[in-house]
Amino acid sequence: MNLTRKIIIYMIIGAVIGTVLNLSNLTAIEFVDVYIINGLFYIIGQLFILSLKMMVVPLVFVSLFCGTTALREPAMLGSLGGRTLAFYLFTTATAITIALTIAITFGVGGGAEIPTDVNYVAAEGRTFTEVILSILDNPVQAMADGNMLAIIIFAILLGFSAGKAGDAGQKVISFFKDFNEVIMKLVMVIMEFAPIAVLAILAKVFAELGFDAVLALGGYFFTVLIVLFVHALLVYPILLKVLSGLSPFIFFSKMRSTLSFAFGTSSSNATIPVTYKTVTERLGVQNSVASFSVPFGATINMDGTSIMQGVATVFIANAYGLDLTGGQLVTVVLMATMASIGTAGVPSAGLVMLQGVLLQVGLPIEGIGIILGVDRLLDMTRTAVNVTGDATITCIVAKSIGKFDEDIYNDPNAGEEML
Ligand code: ASP
Repeated sequence: MNLTRKIIIYMIIGAVIGTVLNLSNLTAIEFVDVYIINGLFYIIGQLFILSLKMMVVPLVFVSLFCGTTALREPAMLGSLGGRTLAFYLFTTATAITIALTIAITFGVGGGAEIPTDVNYVAAEGRTFTEVILSILDNPVQAMADGNMLAIIIFAILLGFSAGKAGDAGQKVISFFKDFNEVIMKLVMVIMEFAPIAVLAILAKVFAELGFDAVLALGGYFFTVLIVLFVHALLVYPILLKVLSGLSPFIFFSKMRSTLSFAFGTSSSNATIPVTYKTVTERLGVQNSVASFSVPFGATINMDGTSIMQGVATVFIANAYGLDLTGGQLVTVVLMATMASIGTAGVPSAGLVMLQGVLLQVGLPIEGIGIILGVDRLLDMTRTAVNVTGDATITCIVAKSIGKFDEDIYNDPNAGEEML
Protein backbone atom coordinates (compact mmCIF):
# COMPACT_ATOMS: atom_id res chain seq x y z
CA MET A 1 0.00 0.00 0.00
CA ASN A 2 1.40 3.46 -0.79
CA LEU A 3 2.30 5.89 1.96
CA THR A 4 -0.45 8.46 1.34
CA ARG A 5 -3.19 5.84 1.41
CA LYS A 6 -1.69 4.30 4.52
CA ILE A 7 -1.58 7.69 6.29
CA ILE A 8 -5.22 8.39 5.50
CA ILE A 9 -6.39 4.95 6.63
CA TYR A 10 -4.38 5.14 9.87
CA MET A 11 -5.78 8.61 10.48
CA ILE A 12 -9.32 7.29 10.23
CA ILE A 13 -8.48 4.37 12.55
CA GLY A 14 -7.02 6.87 15.05
CA ALA A 15 -10.12 9.05 14.91
CA VAL A 16 -12.35 6.00 15.45
CA ILE A 17 -10.27 4.75 18.42
CA GLY A 18 -10.35 8.24 19.97
CA THR A 19 -14.08 8.63 19.45
CA VAL A 20 -14.79 5.22 21.00
CA LEU A 21 -12.63 6.07 24.03
CA ASN A 22 -14.39 9.39 24.36
CA LEU A 23 -17.99 8.27 23.93
CA SER A 24 -17.58 5.15 26.09
CA ASN A 25 -16.18 7.38 28.83
CA LEU A 26 -13.12 5.18 29.11
CA THR A 27 -11.14 8.43 29.21
CA ALA A 28 -12.38 8.86 32.77
CA ILE A 29 -10.34 5.83 33.86
CA GLU A 30 -7.02 7.08 35.21
CA PHE A 31 -4.97 4.33 33.57
CA VAL A 32 -6.40 5.10 30.12
CA ASP A 33 -5.99 8.82 30.58
CA VAL A 34 -2.47 8.81 32.00
CA TYR A 35 -0.83 5.83 30.33
CA ILE A 36 -2.64 5.48 27.03
CA ILE A 37 -3.88 8.90 25.92
CA ASN A 38 -1.33 11.16 27.58
CA GLY A 39 1.31 8.42 27.67
CA LEU A 40 1.51 6.13 24.67
CA PHE A 41 -0.44 8.21 22.13
CA TYR A 42 1.13 11.47 23.21
CA ILE A 43 4.70 10.14 23.16
CA ILE A 44 4.37 8.51 19.74
CA GLY A 45 2.82 11.67 18.26
CA GLN A 46 5.35 14.00 19.84
CA LEU A 47 8.35 11.88 18.83
CA PHE A 48 7.21 12.14 15.24
CA ILE A 49 6.59 15.90 15.38
CA LEU A 50 9.95 16.40 17.10
CA SER A 51 11.72 14.33 14.47
CA LEU A 52 10.25 16.55 11.74
CA LYS A 53 11.21 19.62 13.73
CA MET A 54 14.70 18.20 14.05
CA MET A 55 14.96 18.42 10.26
CA VAL A 56 13.46 21.89 9.74
CA VAL A 57 16.42 24.13 10.62
CA PRO A 58 19.13 22.10 8.84
CA LEU A 59 16.90 21.65 5.81
CA VAL A 60 15.88 25.31 5.51
CA PHE A 61 19.42 26.54 5.99
CA VAL A 62 21.15 24.13 3.63
CA SER A 63 18.55 24.09 0.86
CA LEU A 64 18.18 27.87 0.88
CA PHE A 65 21.95 28.31 0.80
CA CYS A 66 22.09 26.05 -2.27
CA GLY A 67 19.02 27.75 -3.78
CA THR A 68 20.58 31.18 -3.44
CA THR A 69 23.81 30.13 -5.09
CA ALA A 70 21.73 28.89 -8.02
CA LEU A 71 20.01 32.29 -8.35
CA ARG A 72 23.34 34.10 -8.75
CA GLU A 73 21.94 37.62 -9.10
CA PRO A 74 20.60 39.53 -6.07
CA ALA A 75 18.09 41.17 -8.46
CA MET A 76 16.59 37.75 -9.19
CA LEU A 77 16.08 37.16 -5.50
CA GLY A 78 14.54 40.62 -5.16
CA SER A 79 11.96 39.80 -7.80
CA LEU A 80 11.31 36.35 -6.31
CA GLY A 81 10.97 37.79 -2.79
CA GLY A 82 8.76 40.68 -3.89
CA ARG A 83 6.36 38.47 -5.83
CA THR A 84 6.15 35.84 -3.14
CA LEU A 85 5.47 38.40 -0.42
CA ALA A 86 2.84 40.18 -2.54
CA PHE A 87 1.00 36.91 -3.26
CA TYR A 88 1.16 35.77 0.34
CA LEU A 89 -0.30 39.04 1.61
CA PHE A 90 -2.93 39.13 -1.12
CA THR A 91 -4.23 35.62 -0.41
CA THR A 92 -4.31 36.30 3.34
CA ALA A 93 -6.30 39.51 2.87
CA THR A 94 -8.67 37.66 0.50
CA ALA A 95 -9.12 34.83 2.99
CA ILE A 96 -10.05 37.11 5.85
CA THR A 97 -12.39 39.17 3.69
CA ILE A 98 -14.29 36.01 2.67
CA ALA A 99 -14.37 34.92 6.32
CA LEU A 100 -15.81 38.23 7.52
CA THR A 101 -18.38 38.31 4.73
CA ILE A 102 -19.65 34.78 5.42
CA ALA A 103 -19.56 35.19 9.22
CA ILE A 104 -21.54 38.43 9.05
CA THR A 105 -24.02 36.97 6.56
CA PHE A 106 -24.64 33.95 8.80
CA GLY A 107 -24.71 36.18 11.90
CA VAL A 108 -22.46 33.69 13.63
CA GLY A 109 -22.68 33.89 17.43
CA GLY A 110 -25.85 35.98 17.35
CA GLY A 111 -29.21 34.80 18.64
CA ALA A 112 -28.24 31.86 20.84
CA GLU A 113 -27.25 32.45 24.45
CA ILE A 114 -23.52 31.96 24.65
CA PRO A 115 -22.07 32.00 28.17
CA THR A 116 -19.42 34.70 28.13
CA ASP A 117 -18.23 34.33 31.73
CA VAL A 118 -15.09 32.42 30.78
CA ASN A 119 -11.53 32.56 31.96
CA TYR A 120 -8.79 33.22 29.52
CA VAL A 121 -5.20 34.01 30.38
CA ALA A 122 -3.66 36.20 27.70
CA ALA A 123 -0.44 34.88 26.18
CA GLU A 124 2.58 37.04 25.41
CA GLY A 125 2.46 38.39 21.85
CA ARG A 126 5.25 40.18 20.00
CA THR A 127 5.14 43.83 18.98
CA PHE A 128 5.64 44.85 15.38
CA THR A 129 9.03 46.39 16.24
CA GLU A 130 10.14 43.13 17.86
CA VAL A 131 9.15 41.20 14.74
CA ILE A 132 11.12 43.55 12.47
CA LEU A 133 14.23 43.45 14.65
CA SER A 134 14.09 39.65 14.93
CA ILE A 135 14.99 39.16 11.27
CA LEU A 136 18.69 39.48 12.08
CA ASP A 137 20.38 37.51 14.80
CA ASN A 138 23.42 35.48 15.70
CA PRO A 139 22.78 32.48 13.40
CA VAL A 140 23.43 29.92 16.11
CA GLN A 141 20.91 31.65 18.36
CA ALA A 142 18.41 31.89 15.49
CA MET A 143 18.80 28.19 14.75
CA ALA A 144 18.41 27.27 18.40
CA ASP A 145 15.26 29.40 18.65
CA GLY A 146 13.92 28.21 15.30
CA ASN A 147 13.72 31.88 14.24
CA MET A 148 12.91 31.20 10.62
CA LEU A 149 13.17 34.74 9.24
CA ALA A 150 16.67 35.21 10.67
CA ILE A 151 17.76 31.80 9.34
CA ILE A 152 16.40 32.71 5.91
CA ILE A 153 18.32 36.01 5.79
CA PHE A 154 21.56 34.39 6.99
CA ALA A 155 21.32 31.57 4.43
CA ILE A 156 20.69 34.04 1.59
CA LEU A 157 23.60 36.32 2.57
CA LEU A 158 25.95 33.39 2.93
CA GLY A 159 24.75 31.89 -0.37
CA PHE A 160 25.54 35.09 -2.28
CA SER A 161 28.91 35.40 -0.60
CA ALA A 162 29.77 31.81 -1.51
CA GLY A 163 28.93 32.56 -5.14
CA LYS A 164 31.40 35.46 -5.09
CA ALA A 165 34.17 33.69 -3.16
CA GLY A 166 35.79 31.87 -6.09
CA ASP A 167 37.29 28.47 -5.45
CA ALA A 168 36.67 28.48 -1.74
CA GLY A 169 33.01 29.33 -2.36
CA GLN A 170 32.67 26.47 -4.87
CA LYS A 171 33.99 23.96 -2.34
CA VAL A 172 31.48 25.10 0.28
CA ILE A 173 28.65 24.99 -2.28
CA SER A 174 29.53 21.47 -3.36
CA PHE A 175 29.68 20.30 0.27
CA PHE A 176 26.24 21.75 1.04
CA LYS A 177 24.75 20.26 -2.13
CA ASP A 178 25.79 16.82 -0.92
CA PHE A 179 24.59 17.64 2.57
CA ASN A 180 21.19 18.57 1.12
CA GLU A 181 20.88 15.13 -0.48
CA VAL A 182 21.68 13.46 2.83
CA ILE A 183 19.09 15.55 4.68
CA MET A 184 16.40 14.64 2.16
CA LYS A 185 17.21 10.95 2.66
CA LEU A 186 16.63 11.31 6.37
CA VAL A 187 13.34 13.13 5.75
CA MET A 188 12.23 10.12 3.69
CA VAL A 189 13.08 7.78 6.57
CA ILE A 190 11.09 9.89 9.04
CA MET A 191 8.10 9.98 6.71
CA GLU A 192 7.88 6.21 6.92
CA PHE A 193 6.72 6.62 10.51
CA ALA A 194 3.91 9.00 9.58
CA PRO A 195 1.04 6.47 9.54
CA ILE A 196 1.51 5.20 13.09
CA ALA A 197 2.17 8.75 14.32
CA VAL A 198 -1.01 10.21 12.83
CA LEU A 199 -2.97 7.29 14.28
CA ALA A 200 -1.69 8.18 17.76
CA ILE A 201 -2.21 11.94 17.27
CA LEU A 202 -5.76 11.58 16.01
CA ALA A 203 -6.67 9.04 18.69
CA LYS A 204 -5.59 11.54 21.36
CA VAL A 205 -7.34 14.51 19.74
CA PHE A 206 -10.63 12.64 19.37
CA ALA A 207 -10.41 11.04 22.81
CA GLU A 208 -10.11 14.49 24.34
CA LEU A 209 -12.47 16.30 21.98
CA GLY A 210 -15.36 17.94 23.71
CA PHE A 211 -18.16 16.77 21.42
CA ASP A 212 -20.56 18.80 23.57
CA ALA A 213 -18.45 21.90 23.02
CA VAL A 214 -18.47 21.31 19.26
CA LEU A 215 -22.25 21.01 19.31
CA ALA A 216 -22.69 24.08 21.49
CA LEU A 217 -20.38 26.12 19.31
CA GLY A 218 -21.57 24.45 16.09
CA GLY A 219 -22.30 27.80 14.39
CA TYR A 220 -18.75 29.02 14.89
CA PHE A 221 -17.12 25.66 14.29
CA PHE A 222 -18.87 24.89 11.02
CA THR A 223 -18.62 28.45 9.70
CA VAL A 224 -14.82 28.30 10.08
CA LEU A 225 -14.77 24.89 8.38
CA ILE A 226 -16.97 26.06 5.49
CA VAL A 227 -14.80 29.13 4.83
CA LEU A 228 -11.64 27.02 5.03
CA PHE A 229 -13.02 24.68 2.39
CA VAL A 230 -14.26 27.54 0.19
CA HIS A 231 -10.84 29.14 0.28
CA ALA A 232 -8.90 25.92 -0.34
CA LEU A 233 -11.19 24.49 -2.99
CA LEU A 234 -12.17 27.66 -4.86
CA VAL A 235 -9.67 30.47 -4.37
CA TYR A 236 -6.44 28.45 -4.76
CA PRO A 237 -7.64 26.40 -7.75
CA ILE A 238 -8.79 29.57 -9.52
CA LEU A 239 -5.45 31.26 -8.89
CA LEU A 240 -3.54 28.19 -10.09
CA LYS A 241 -5.59 27.87 -13.25
CA VAL A 242 -5.91 31.55 -14.14
CA LEU A 243 -2.41 32.74 -13.27
CA SER A 244 -0.41 29.66 -14.23
CA GLY A 245 -2.64 27.45 -16.37
CA LEU A 246 -1.95 24.52 -14.01
CA SER A 247 -4.48 21.80 -13.26
CA PRO A 248 -5.79 22.07 -9.68
CA PHE A 249 -6.70 18.36 -9.75
CA ILE A 250 -3.10 17.33 -10.26
CA PHE A 251 -2.07 19.80 -7.57
CA PHE A 252 -4.40 18.36 -4.94
CA SER A 253 -3.76 14.75 -5.82
CA LYS A 254 -0.03 15.32 -5.33
CA MET A 255 -0.52 17.35 -2.17
CA ARG A 256 -2.51 14.68 -0.32
CA SER A 257 0.30 13.34 1.81
CA THR A 258 1.59 16.84 2.64
CA LEU A 259 -1.87 17.90 3.72
CA SER A 260 -2.19 14.88 5.99
CA PHE A 261 1.13 15.84 7.60
CA ALA A 262 -0.07 19.41 8.12
CA PHE A 263 -3.37 18.17 9.53
CA GLY A 264 -1.67 15.64 11.80
CA THR A 265 1.03 17.95 13.15
CA SER A 266 -0.96 21.23 13.34
CA SER A 267 2.25 22.94 12.42
CA SER A 268 3.23 24.45 9.07
CA ASN A 269 6.78 24.67 10.41
CA ALA A 270 7.08 20.98 11.21
CA THR A 271 5.59 20.23 7.78
CA ILE A 272 8.28 22.27 5.93
CA PRO A 273 10.42 19.21 5.03
CA VAL A 274 7.42 17.44 3.48
CA THR A 275 6.06 20.53 1.69
CA TYR A 276 9.52 21.24 0.30
CA LYS A 277 9.95 17.68 -0.93
CA THR A 278 6.51 17.67 -2.55
CA VAL A 279 6.81 20.98 -4.39
CA THR A 280 10.30 20.20 -5.69
CA GLU A 281 10.02 16.51 -6.50
CA ARG A 282 6.34 16.06 -7.29
CA LEU A 283 5.16 19.48 -8.49
CA GLY A 284 8.25 20.57 -10.45
CA VAL A 285 9.30 23.74 -8.61
CA GLN A 286 13.03 24.41 -8.77
CA ASN A 287 14.98 24.39 -5.55
CA SER A 288 16.01 28.05 -5.95
CA VAL A 289 12.36 29.09 -5.51
CA ALA A 290 11.07 26.39 -3.15
CA SER A 291 13.93 26.68 -0.67
CA PHE A 292 12.92 30.30 -0.14
CA SER A 293 9.17 30.38 -0.56
CA VAL A 294 8.29 27.26 1.46
CA PRO A 295 9.89 28.30 4.78
CA PHE A 296 8.95 31.93 4.13
CA GLY A 297 5.33 30.87 3.60
CA ALA A 298 5.30 28.62 6.66
CA THR A 299 6.38 31.65 8.66
CA ILE A 300 4.36 34.51 7.21
CA ASN A 301 1.52 33.04 5.16
CA MET A 302 -1.42 31.84 7.21
CA ASP A 303 -4.62 32.08 5.25
CA GLY A 304 -6.40 29.39 7.24
CA THR A 305 -5.45 31.12 10.46
CA SER A 306 -6.73 34.47 9.26
CA ILE A 307 -10.03 32.79 8.33
CA MET A 308 -10.40 31.54 11.90
CA GLN A 309 -9.61 35.04 13.14
CA GLY A 310 -12.19 36.69 10.91
CA VAL A 311 -14.96 34.33 11.96
CA ALA A 312 -13.87 34.45 15.61
CA THR A 313 -13.94 38.26 15.67
CA VAL A 314 -17.51 38.40 14.37
CA PHE A 315 -18.52 35.54 16.66
CA ILE A 316 -17.06 37.17 19.78
CA ALA A 317 -18.58 40.55 18.91
CA ASN A 318 -22.01 38.95 18.50
CA ALA A 319 -21.65 36.79 21.63
CA TYR A 320 -21.00 39.93 23.69
CA GLY A 321 -23.76 41.81 21.85
CA LEU A 322 -21.33 44.34 20.34
CA ASP A 323 -21.56 45.79 16.84
CA LEU A 324 -18.61 46.01 14.47
CA THR A 325 -18.42 49.16 12.37
CA GLY A 326 -17.13 49.23 8.79
CA GLY A 327 -13.93 50.86 10.05
CA GLN A 328 -13.40 48.07 12.57
CA LEU A 329 -13.86 45.45 9.86
CA VAL A 330 -11.19 47.10 7.73
CA THR A 331 -8.93 47.14 10.81
CA VAL A 332 -9.53 43.41 11.28
CA VAL A 333 -8.46 42.71 7.67
CA LEU A 334 -5.30 44.81 8.02
CA MET A 335 -4.43 43.57 11.50
CA ALA A 336 -4.93 39.88 10.72
CA THR A 337 -2.88 40.20 7.52
CA MET A 338 -0.04 41.92 9.36
CA ALA A 339 -0.30 39.62 12.35
CA SER A 340 0.29 36.57 10.19
CA ILE A 341 3.82 37.87 9.50
CA GLY A 342 6.32 36.90 12.15
CA THR A 343 4.19 34.38 13.98
CA ALA A 344 5.68 30.94 13.69
CA GLY A 345 3.65 28.12 12.17
CA VAL A 346 3.20 26.17 15.37
CA PRO A 347 0.08 24.75 17.03
CA SER A 348 -2.30 27.37 18.42
CA ALA A 349 -0.19 30.31 17.23
CA GLY A 350 -3.34 31.71 15.64
CA LEU A 351 -4.96 32.25 19.01
CA VAL A 352 -2.09 34.45 20.17
CA MET A 353 -2.44 36.48 17.00
CA LEU A 354 -6.18 36.72 17.57
CA GLN A 355 -5.51 38.56 20.83
CA GLY A 356 -3.84 41.38 18.89
CA VAL A 357 -6.74 41.60 16.45
CA LEU A 358 -9.35 41.73 19.22
CA LEU A 359 -7.40 44.32 21.20
CA GLN A 360 -7.08 46.52 18.13
CA VAL A 361 -10.83 46.64 17.56
CA GLY A 362 -11.66 46.89 21.26
CA LEU A 363 -13.26 43.47 21.74
CA PRO A 364 -12.76 41.50 24.99
CA ILE A 365 -9.89 39.04 24.61
CA GLU A 366 -11.55 36.78 27.19
CA GLY A 367 -13.80 35.87 24.25
CA ILE A 368 -11.01 33.56 23.12
CA GLY A 369 -11.87 31.41 26.15
CA ILE A 370 -15.24 30.61 24.54
CA ILE A 371 -13.76 29.15 21.37
CA LEU A 372 -10.77 27.47 23.00
CA GLY A 373 -12.56 24.16 23.51
CA VAL A 374 -13.07 23.58 19.79
CA ASP A 375 -9.81 25.01 18.56
CA ARG A 376 -7.78 21.80 18.35
CA LEU A 377 -9.60 20.33 15.37
CA LEU A 378 -9.87 23.72 13.67
CA ASP A 379 -6.13 24.25 14.17
CA MET A 380 -5.42 21.00 12.32
CA THR A 381 -7.70 21.95 9.45
CA ARG A 382 -6.48 25.52 9.11
CA THR A 383 -2.85 24.34 9.14
CA ALA A 384 -3.65 22.17 6.12
CA VAL A 385 -5.09 25.28 4.42
CA ASN A 386 -2.02 27.35 5.38
CA VAL A 387 0.24 24.76 3.78
CA THR A 388 -1.96 24.54 0.66
CA GLY A 389 -1.52 28.30 0.31
CA ASP A 390 2.26 28.06 0.63
CA ALA A 391 2.46 25.36 -2.04
CA THR A 392 0.02 27.13 -4.40
CA ILE A 393 1.90 30.42 -4.32
CA THR A 394 5.23 28.59 -4.63
CA CYS A 395 4.03 26.98 -7.89
CA ILE A 396 2.59 30.25 -9.23
CA VAL A 397 5.72 32.27 -8.48
CA ALA A 398 8.08 29.56 -9.79
CA LYS A 399 6.10 29.36 -13.04
CA SER A 400 6.04 33.15 -13.44
CA ILE A 401 9.83 33.41 -13.29
CA GLY A 402 10.57 30.32 -15.34
CA LYS A 403 11.81 28.14 -12.49
CA PHE A 404 9.22 25.43 -12.98
CA ASP A 405 9.20 22.08 -14.75
CA GLU A 406 5.72 21.43 -16.10
CA ASP A 407 6.62 17.89 -17.19
CA ILE A 408 7.23 16.94 -13.57
CA TYR A 409 3.96 18.61 -12.55
CA ASN A 410 1.99 16.62 -15.11
CA ASP A 411 3.80 13.32 -14.53
CA PRO A 412 1.69 11.27 -12.09
CA ASN A 413 4.74 9.19 -11.12
CA ALA A 414 7.17 12.04 -10.42
CA GLY A 415 8.66 11.70 -6.94
CA GLU A 416 6.84 8.41 -6.60
CA GLU A 417 8.86 7.25 -3.62
CA MET A 418 6.73 9.57 -1.52
CA LEU A 419 3.40 8.47 -2.97
N1 ASP B 1 -1.06 25.87 13.55
C1 ASP B 1 -1.04 26.87 12.51
C2 ASP B 1 0.13 26.64 11.58
O1 ASP B 1 1.10 26.07 11.97
C3 ASP B 1 -1.02 28.26 13.05
C4 ASP B 1 -2.31 28.52 13.79
O2 ASP B 1 -3.29 28.89 13.14
O3 ASP B 1 -2.39 28.33 15.00
O4 ASP B 1 0.08 27.03 10.44
